[in-house]
Amino acid sequence: MFIGVKELERHPLRFHEEFAPGTIDFRAGEFRQAAPLTVELAAELEGAEIHVVGRLAGRLELACARCLEPVERDIASRFDLHYRPVSAIARDEEVGLKPDDLEVGFYVGEGLFLADVVAEQVYLALPMKVVCREECRGFCPGCGMNLNREACRCGPRAVDPRLAPLAEWVAKKKSSR
Ligand SMILES: [Zn+2]
Ligand SMILES: [Zn+2]
Repeated sequence: MFIGVKELERHPLRFHEEFAPGTIDFRAGEFRQAAPLTVELAAELEGAEIHVVGRLAGRLELACARCLEPVERDIASRFDLHYRPVSAIARDEEVGLKPDDLEVGFYVGEGLFLADVVAEQVYLALPMKVVCREECRGFCPGCGMNLNREACRCGPRAVDPRLAPLAEWVAKKKSSR
């Protein structure tokens, strides 16, 4: 599915698509789609710019920031974007981008791939940090145990040998007070 300038010169384009998991290449791979991604999008030409308005909704599987267990989250977003032909960049850099131009993207060649627009919007819709549950205890930094499942094995006296100098320093600090 391509949002092509040639076609937009003749008429606006509308898409209503469902992307099954695996059909969009998200590259980074820190999440995966847990359900089909629904996208509605309209595109029209404004001068040399492609104006894209749309919304998407779906469900992602991410890793808990503390224990790395999979967590599913719904995402939904609306977007209103302008894409300029890449040849316009040089001129804008001379002029300097105005603050309200921050939503401006660029396209190379004949237009935009719908999947690229969608992938970018999914990245922007990603939750900053997810936890499987508020009480998730994550991993112990000392023994590496998943504290949701097992007890910490560090014990009160065990100190990582690499941290021993630090422990000594802390002890000295305390005693010198
Ligand atoms: Zn967790
Ligand atoms: Zn531990």
